[in-house]
Amino acid sequence: YEQLASNKYREINRKEIAISSTLGEGQFGYVSKGLWTHANERHDVAVKMLKPDATDQDRVKLLQEAAIMGQFTHKNIVKLHGVVTVGEPVMMLLEFMPRGELRAYLRSIKSKLSASNITNMPKLLLRFCRDISSGMAYLSQKSFVHRDLAARNVLLASDLTCKIGDFGMARDLMEDESNYYKSSGGIIPLKWTAPEALNFKKYTSASDVWSYGMVLYEIWSLGHKPFNDLSNPIVIALVNSKHCQAPPPGCSRRVYQLMVNCWNPEHTLRPKFESISEYLKDSDESLLQW
Ligand code: ADP
Repeated sequence: YEQLASNKYREINRKEIAISSTLGEGQFGYVSKGLWTHANERHDVAVKMLKPDATDQDRVKLLQEAAIMGQFTHKNIVKLHGVVTVGEPVMMLLEFMPRGELRAYLRSIKSKLSASNITNMPKLLLRFCRDISSGMAYLSQKSFVHRDLAARNVLLASDLTCKIGDFGMARDLMEDESNYYKSSGGIIPLKWTAPEALNFKKYTSASDVWSYGMVLYEIWSLGHKPFNDLSNPIVIALVNSKHCQAPPPGCSRRVYQLMVNCWNPEHTLRPKFESISEYLKDSDESLLQW
């Protein structure tokens, strides 16, 4: 572990952490809320730790995820505070994201929607699109390919800033590229994955742009899954036949245009995250025009 730890992340003293409630369960561990007290500073943290029956491989995976997250410093990427590798269980301390997963938040807006609170919603949705695009522009500048961009992997801060918060798919790749499908338990996020990535395993920032188009769709449909109830073979056939999903109700012309551009079957013709961010710098009024 020492080799992995060098420069990438800092070791935190277990005694400085007080764990409280459980937030969720992950692939091989638990995520709890905690309070980290260090040098008179107190931080709310999310503590990701291994289950008691975790294997050595699970430990390595947790630390690999920390090694990935530790490279990034950006307001739209969940920050890694550090890790605890001395004693058991091994832990990873992350910036606490009190409002949870974007997808769940979108669905909660949908269920509460009424005429009285609908007016400012499109502006909030635009903010989500801008936040995610700027996090992704940062990652792509670092030549980092995410491979699993989806609303379920975006978390919300208290002021509803979106931050990319799950790097499990990229982590599984550190192990053995040829083993990708197996090592992630055969789970590919098919409905978010670009055709060249599905067909030839060609993952690039341009395939992340395709997934970003799916996130735009999730945002504007308030948490509807892309290709919702269609079976995998049908989705593969649709994607390969250059079919585009219809605009979600309430999605403006310019936002839908952006989605369709992200879903260009030819990956070299998709916009780059930098130019998506530029496009989204236009005023709310202009982007929300019909
Ligand atoms: P895994 O990638 O192993 O499936 P996740 O990273 O998805 O685990 O974490 C499981 C759950 O814990 C998430 O669904 C989310 O609700 C919660 N969670 C994860 N990270 C944070 C965080 N930084 N702040 C708040 N909640 C978090």
